[in-house]
Amino acid sequence: MSIEENLGKVKKIIPDGVTLVAVSKTKPNEAILEAYNAGHRIFGENKVQEMTQKWEELPKDIEWHMIGHVQRNKVKYMAEYVSLIHGVDSFRLLKEIDKQAEKYNRVIPCLLQMHIAEEQTKFGLDKAELEEIIVSEDFKNLKNIKIVGVMGMATYTQDQSQIRKEFAFLKTIFDFLRENLSNITVLSMGMSGDFDIAIQEGSTMVRIGSSIFGARNYL
Ligand SMILES: *Cc1c(COP(=O)(O)O)cnc(C)c1O
Repeated sequence: MSIEENLGKVKKIIPDGVTLVAVSKTKPNEAILEAYNAGHRIFGENKVQEMTQKWEELPKDIEWHMIGHVQRNKVKYMAEYVSLIHGVDSFRLLKEIDKQAEKYNRVIPCLLQMHIAEEQTKFGLDKAELEEIIVSEDFKNLKNIKIVGVMGMATYTQDQSQIRKEFAFLKTIFDFLRENLSNITVLSMGMSGDFDIAIQEGSTMVRIGSSIFGARNYL
């Protein structure tokens, strides 16, 4: 199957109102252009340097989403163009995004990444840390970032009920955020292996790579 065919298949499954981020990390420009020429415009990358190179080389109407873990010293490279940063997992990072966004006179939309999986290795905040951020005076003073929702990754497991439980938990955090901040619209959850469950549990944005572009050689 071609990328265009895979994309069509995935789009048919995803309901209206759920945004598809085509995760193109490690894939060459030609692969991205194949999806682009099929009409797709939203792509996700997990390394700032790779994303910036692709942004420089590819059509400028592409929306680039940073879905990976972000180091503070890399924010400056994407502040000019990034459409949404999914992996905000500390206040220090948020402050750096705000500072870099100000240089470009932009407001950068961000998601707070929540730790919902059992694995220790996955990044993210717990609910107490999220609350601490959103109630702080410092947070209210950040003018060049806008929190628009939350993101999370479920445990890598065959146990569907475990995955469902973790997504359902993230949905409760999303609802909590919606009650406490305005403009909360994005619940980013679901990848190739679990996006059907994520959508059933209320996802508004899925991040799908291998089902569109094929398996990656490395992560
Ligand atoms: C790589 C990646 C994805 C896409 O994974 P697939 O299983 O290929 O769909 C989604 N989200 C994040 C954060 C990723 O790093």
